[in-house]
Amino acid sequence: MDDFIKQYLEYNQQWAQDKQEEDSEYFNLLAEGQHPKALLLGCSDSRVSPSVVIGADLGEVFVHRNIANVVAHSDLNFLSVFQYAVEVLKVEHIIVVGHYGCGGIQAAMSNNLYGLIDNWLANIKDVMTLHEAELNAIADEQQRLNRLVELNVFEQINNIRQTSVFRKAQQNGIAPKLHGWVYNFSTGLINVIFGPEINSSASRV
Ligand SMILES: [Zn+2]
Repeated sequence: MDDFIKQYLEYNQQWAQDKQEEDSEYFNLLAEGQHPKALLLGCSDSRVSPSVVIGADLGEVFVHRNIANVVAHSDLNFLSVFQYAVEVLKVEHIIVVGHYGCGGIQAAMSNNLYGLIDNWLANIKDVMTLHEAELNAIADEQQRLNRLVELNVFEQINNIRQTSVFRKAQQNGIAPKLHGWVYNFSTGLINVIFGPEINSSASRV
């Protein structure tokens, strides 16, 4: 077995033992069921682990991750996670977490061909088309990329609003609150760009 795989499994044994010693009910409580307050949609990037950077313990956040934190209306995987989170778990918050330095966003902005993934990245190209004028006005490439990361978070929130699940929840008066965050893996800090706590006219695109 590769050394690093062995290390992971050894760590797991020790971690489970430590948790059990700290709190003998810890695993029993988790086994009884989950009551997460939030659904978190993040990027698959290994430098971005939303539950780690907000200190959420097991059972606290329901998580879905894909390349560039996209909400595609034809993606049954995300839509199933979303429906379960809203209708069964009744989460109170949905947080879309993008991140600066996102390789998916960078790839979408380039004109290179990467194969199958280009079809997924077409979702980001749609965001670029929608905001072409604003993006073209930014001369600095890094700033343009950073802005596209933010615009992508706004547009994925808009996509959530269009889903049948969200619209039904709205009709029933149980729609979760929507939040848009951008994580910076160079500083470890989250930039809150959208949410009920922010003046929505200032934060909207
Ligand atoms: Zn990413």
